[in-house]
Amino acid sequence: MLNPMWKAYMDGVGAGVFLIFFASRLDIWRHKPERLANLWLAAVAFSALMVNFTAVFIKATDGGGHPIFVMLNLMGAAGVVVSLLELVFSLAETSPPRLIRSLEFLLLPLTVLRISQNAVMIIVALLLLVTLFKAVKSASQGNADARGVLLGLAVLLICLVSDIADELHLVNVPNFFPVLGFIVFFLSVTHAINSHLAREESAARTDPLTGLLNRRGFLELSRLVVSIAERSARSFSIIMIDLDHFKRVNDKFGHAMGDRVLQEIASILLRGVRDQDILARWGGEEIIVLLPDTGENGANALGEKIRSSVEELETWHGETRICVTLSLGISEYHRGEPLTDTIQRADNALYRAKSSGRNRVEYLAFTDDTTGTGDLIK
Ligand code: GH3
Ligand code: MG
Ligand code: MG
Repeated sequence: MLNPMWKAYMDGVGAGVFLIFFASRLDIWRHKPERLANLWLAAVAFSALMVNFTAVFIKATDGGGHPIFVMLNLMGAAGVVVSLLELVFSLAETSPPRLIRSLEFLLLPLTVLRISQNAVMIIVALLLLVTLFKAVKSASQGNADARGVLLGLAVLLICLVSDIADELHLVNVPNFFPVLGFIVFFLSVTHAINSHLAREESAARTDPLTGLLNRRGFLELSRLVVSIAERSARSFSIIMIDLDHFKRVNDKFGHAMGDRVLQEIASILLRGVRDQDILARWGGEEIIVLLPDTGENGANALGEKIRSSVEELETWHGETRICVTLSLGISEYHRGEPLTDTIQRADNALYRAKSSGRNRVEYLAFTDDTTGTGDLIK
């Protein structure tokens, strides 16, 4: 059943795996301390390492091992359970109830002083049940990541329980089960943490109403286009778009209807631009488009196409058709100027479009930029 060589080899592999996960997750947590899940994952790995390490010394001595190793082994096992629980709660962005926290703290004196093995077993079993319950609850309400964590946790628990049953000579399972369980668990949690981070980062650059980029996302993406334009003869244009008399739409049909109109316009714009164009909600009812490799003529043609397609847009409120029009201001990048100047010029062109009757496209060339009235349209 237990081949000592094979067992020692698996202990070594386990120690390596736990050490790698402990060090890498601790390092990530040091750089992003608000992401507690990384700390708890490091704590799971550290506790598993403690169990793994002390078990070697305990097994090496026939009389059950030195009391200090037995105590550290027990503490490690309790540490795995406590950190698993905290990890599952922190992934769900909540904290465990106060009673559960008290039980976690109770484990420390119980294991250090080795007061009552039965009490430790009962608390550990209870904490594991709470962890499983929370993981199942998160998976049933949450996304694919929460289900992945639950699956990883289930694999880990099955591997650990079958290893214990093996030690009690109840079943016969391969020695690599506990390490395999931890590897599956670490990978599923790492995947959940990473995709949660990716979702958060994309949300920070996206406008929730229209799904377009927000101002921050726009400025980040446009940086590359500007630096290419600075170093080459490739220019770009900016179109600043503002809905005409949009306040009236809200006042007449309600804010929710206004929101729907904004969404429809955003999808018309998305369909109308090329993949490389950068489209963003600049603020309120203003939308900005950056057109790489496009000069005055191309930008004016696109601006006119957008203007007429929104003019023809049919949005219905019951029997009433809601008519919306756009005013558009266009500018072309002038080599050497900061992006904010190009945007300001498009803003000034937009002001011209507004003051000369709305529902029109205006272009403002670099040399024409003397009005400085961009702020007035805000
Ligand atoms: P103008 O033609 O001069 O641009 O007139 P306007 O009414 O569009 O401009 P104004 O700046 O007076 O009003 C902008 C309106 O846009 C008021 C504001 O409630 C509305 N608005 C801004 N953001 C949103 C939004 O997210 N949803 C809705 N429904 N309305 C919005
Ligand atoms: Mg407006
Ligand atoms: Mg406006």
